[in-house]
Formats: sequence, structure tokens, C-alpha cells
Amino acid sequence: MAKQNRRIEKGRRDPFVLALPYPFKAWLALSSDPDNTLFKDWQELDGVIWKEIGLPFADSFFIRSFNTHHTHQVDLHGHPGILASHPHDTIHTWGDFVFGGKRGFDRQDAIDHAAIIAQAGFTPRIWTDHSTFFGNLLHVHQYGGQPELRDASGYVYSNTLYTLDLIQAVGVRYVWDGTVTPVMGQGRPMRLLTYHMAYAGSFRTGVTRYVKHLLMNAFGVGIDFRKKFHGNSIYRPHRFADGNTLYLFQRHGSWPSGDIDGLGEVLAPERMEQLMRTGGFCIAYTHLGKRPANRTHDPVHVPASTLAALRNIKDLMERKELMVSSTSSLLDYAVLRDHISVDVREHIIRFNADGIAFKTVGAAELKGLSFTFLRKQLDLETVRVRGTIEELRPRFEDHGDRFSLHFDVP
Ligand SMILES: [Zn+2]
Repeated sequence: MAKQNRRIEKGRRDPFVLALPYPFKAWLALSSDPDNTLFKDWQELDGVIWKEIGLPFADSFFIRSFNTHHTHQVDLHGHPGILASHPHDTIHTWGDFVFGGKRGFDRQDAIDHAAIIAQAGFTPRIWTDHSTFFGNLLHVHQYGGQPELRDASGYVYSNTLYTLDLIQAVGVRYVWDGTVTPVMGQGRPMRLLTYHMAYAGSFRTGVTRYVKHLLMNAFGVGIDFRKKFHGNSIYRPHRFADGNTLYLFQRHGSWPSGDIDGLGEVLAPERMEQLMRTGGFCIAYTHLGKRPANRTHDPVHVPASTLAALRNIKDLMERKELMVSSTSSLLDYAVLRDHISVDVREHIIRFNADGIAFKTVGAAELKGLSFTFLRKQLDLETVRVRGTIEELRPRFEDHGDRFSLHFDVP
């Protein structure tokens, strides 16, 4: 067991490919759930984050809300203009069916709501489970991914809450795994001990969990424990009960800091410095439209500390220290990066399909992304770049001992 288990993040990347595009030190995305958002707060967020500061995050939305606790919650049904106002890449399940009173949920709702987003011309790439929704895939409930249910006497029922085939059909390739990680700098290689220390934030707890983890690995027990501490990968394939495989990702932060006030702490300048020191990715967990209960009547939604943190991120982005993007671009980049192969003898850089997020890789899939390579014995004059179907013509940028390929947006 020893070596393999202690190193939890196996390098699957081609050794020529660098972790991040030059000269960025880390990559940040925001993964926000739309719970409790009032339209006036939505307008403030849209104005501040996307129009005034101009951050390239993508948002999530409810297709339609039936939640009787939040009757004024923003949804696409009541506010069809939201999708055009700023980028979105995430559906927060099929809508808000939690606390819907007599209004239940079944597969037909998913079929109807899939038609609504198709009509709006929207393709979600990400699915995040919502609260205690029975149709969730992983968080609290898992019925959304189970085509059949079996009772204690052995009777088998078709499950009308099952919609994973529809989730995949509308375009989702990445699913939140229902957990948040306190580890700053996701997707970077870490030894198991370092990971447990970073996760626990304390030497003593970290070492205890590390020893427990090693013992559980050795004896093949503690599945729940090992599932919780599955490692620091930025994405991982997961086979659901219906046989379909999608990628899972974790979000960074903590449950109590998952609102607009907590976001100021999660993204505070000193924490962004820490992220750039450690390197790697950060998919920050939040609810942009939610505020602490004691600020319900405050006329201002985004507090000064969060505003300052967001402005600092824009500065870091403009200085090309911190890459900032939608969650889907961040995950697409990581998957594409890990499937590049560099053929030194043939002088070919190949972008290969992973088979889950991408069936083919061409100019359309790579649009807007950049990748950096070690130069070594590669000759920039003769090296060719291929996708799965055709030859690609990215812009080359020479950095001396490294070079980048830019797939510019025309
Ligand atoms: Zn939610």
C-alpha cells in the first residue's frame, strides 16, 4: 500500500504541460447557489460584480421556484431576462421544489423544465444539488441518480425522481459532490499527511486523521471516512447507479461562510495571497443572494468587506497573477490539460478527448483557453497542434524556456 496510498494525487498530466497558463499563479472561480435571492439584491449583484467591477464569473439560477418560504425568490420563470444580463453555467437542480407545500416533484417536471431552458437557448454545464431536494444526486438525497428503488421485501419500483439521463441530455458534465473543502489550492498534488493537516487546520487532528486513513486503507474499512477525505483533485469521475459517469467537484469554503458576508472572508486579500502561494485552483462556495439573518433589513446587500475583496480580485486578474473565470471554464481547462499528449519525436501536441466532458476536441472546445508547455527539445517553428478531428492553429507565445498556445476568441 505504502507509497501509492500516501500520494493521493497522481500526476496524470503530460510532463511537458504546466499546471496553469503562464504567468498565472492560481485560478479562481465562484460557485454560487441562487437560494433566497430577492430581485433588488440580484440587481445590486449584477450591477456590482458583472457591470461595475467586471469579473468573469458565471452564475447559477432556479428555472422555477415553488418554495413557499421564499415566495419572492428570483427564478427564470419570473425574471426571464436574467440569463442575458451576465454569464450563467449552472442549474441549481430543476428548480426550487423544497417546501413546495402540496406541489411535489417528479420526472415530468424535469422534462418540462429541460424544455424551458432549451427554448431559452441555455446549455448548463454544471449541476449543483439544492438543500434537501429529493431529486438531488449526492447532497442529502441520491434519488436523482437511481432509476429503480428496491424495498426491504425485494419489490422493485421505477423511481419517478430519477432524472440523471435528462441532466446529462441538457448538457451537464460536472456535478458538485455535496461537500465543501477547507483546503486552499485545490487540484495540486499533496501528500496524504499534508492534505490532512491542511484540511484540519491543526497538526494534532491532521496527524490523527492521517494515521486513521492509513489504517483504514490497509484494512479496507471506513468507506464513509475515505469518501469524505477523497483527496484534493479538482475533478474526479463518478459512476452513478444508472451506469452513467460524470465528473464531480468540491467547492472551497465552509458552510457558515456560504453567504455574501462570508464571501468577503473566503476571498479576503490575505487568503488570495495564500492561494497564489500554494498555487492550484479555487472554486469558492457561496450564496451571492443570501445574507446573514441580522442584516435582513439593511438597504445595502453587498457589504464593504466583500466589495473590497472582489475589487482586489479584479486587480490580481489584471496583473495576470490570478486567473478568474466561470466554474465550467476552470473545470474544462483542467480536463483538457490533463488529456494533452506531447509527441516529441513527431513534433505534435495532441488535444485528446477524455470521453466524459468531451467527445471531440477542436477549436470550439478550446476557445478562450490558453495552455503553457515546457520548451525542452520542441521547436516552435515545426511543432504542430492537433485536435481529435483536425489540425489546430492556436497563437504561439514564446516565453524563453516555456511557450503558450492561445486559442483566442475571434
Ligand atoms: Zn440551494
